[in-house]
Amino acid sequence: MLLVTREPYIRRQRSEHGRKAVAVLPVHYPKELLTALDLLAVEVWGPPGAPRGDDAGRIQTYVCAVVRNALGFLASGGADLVDAALFPHTCDSIQQLATLASDFGGWKKPALTFLHPKDPGRPSARRFAREELRALAGKLEAVSGAKLEPGRLAAAIRLHREIDACRAALLDGRASLPLDDRELYALLRRGEWLWPEEHLSELRAARALLGTGRPQAGVPVLVTGYVPEPAATLGILNGAGAFVAADDYAAVGRRLVREADLPIADPWEALLDRYLAAPPCPTRSADQDARMRHLVGLLDRSGSRGVVIHVVKFCEPELFDVPAIRRTFAARGVPVLYLEGELERQLSGQVETRIEAFAEMISGAGGAA
Ligand code: SF4
Repeated sequence: MLLVTREPYIRRQRSEHGRKAVAVLPVHYPKELLTALDLLAVEVWGPPGAPRGDDAGRIQTYVCAVVRNALGFLASGGADLVDAALFPHTCDSIQQLATLASDFGGWKKPALTFLHPKDPGRPSARRFAREELRALAGKLEAVSGAKLEPGRLAAAIRLHREIDACRAALLDGRASLPLDDRELYALLRRGEWLWPEEHLSELRAARALLGTGRPQAGVPVLVTGYVPEPAATLGILNGAGAFVAADDYAAVGRRLVREADLPIADPWEALLDRYLAAPPCPTRSADQDARMRHLVGLLDRSGSRGVVIHVVKFCEPELFDVPAIRRTFAARGVPVLYLEGELERQLSGQVETRIEAFAEMISGAGGAA
């Protein structure tokens, strides 16, 4: 969904709750800080479709569509309603976009950055991440005009823990959830812009549906990739007799933190624990072996009979892991389908045919290569 269609919602949040809004570029960021400061996060994944305006052309054609479209979008005034933009250091392209949006795109509001530690497994990573979280909190305080209260941060952490628990229940119970993939992903992706408490209400309602209808009848597949765009990909997969039984999209499953709802003694440490406990993701320089183990675990737990790799063209972090993913599943005799897109609104007939042929193959093969 496009930011422009969210404008009425952003305006209502402002008029009814006095909430300011922050446009957030992909992928990982400490949303709990924004929630605690009463700031509405509105994520910008491109947006999909053709770039808005000529400014996308200021970036080389071999840069991904997410960044090209985002520059076109910001420069054309698509996000003028928000009060700031946050650029996590997901990749070099987004980091540079933080500068380009101001230099070329005419972005005059605060452009906030957030850096990830390069090796999350090292002891120094915790110290680095702690300092980055504190620094970002200071920048967000300036946007909101309020001081971050520890009690509010603790409440925001508990809220996001519950959201993640609901999302995990829906993804883990996917086979017994009476929604098709398009419906499920539309719900999950509303979390990219809804106020978290509203998103939680919708998730709870969906969770109550688990086990109440006919279980999924299709062939289960694991999908790993960046963002489920276009949504038609999911519809075609379902139409071909398969469904997403395990999710490793950067936009969805890789942001899902599974942790116990323990008492919070120090909210900053609890925030840090959450940040460091997210699943392995190449945009956070994750250890590749750990990521492969994670993917194999997803496949095994879900009983998936094939793997779909769904990436954005020219996305360096995602592409870096693709050979390892292919090797990992080839060694286990699991069929793999590779899809690459540029945030098109529709899939080509050729891609549709490939998805259908893949679903047919894994249905008939019963999981054999
Ligand atoms: S699609 Fe890949 S290269 Fe593009 S912004 Fe996202 S992580 Fe960076």
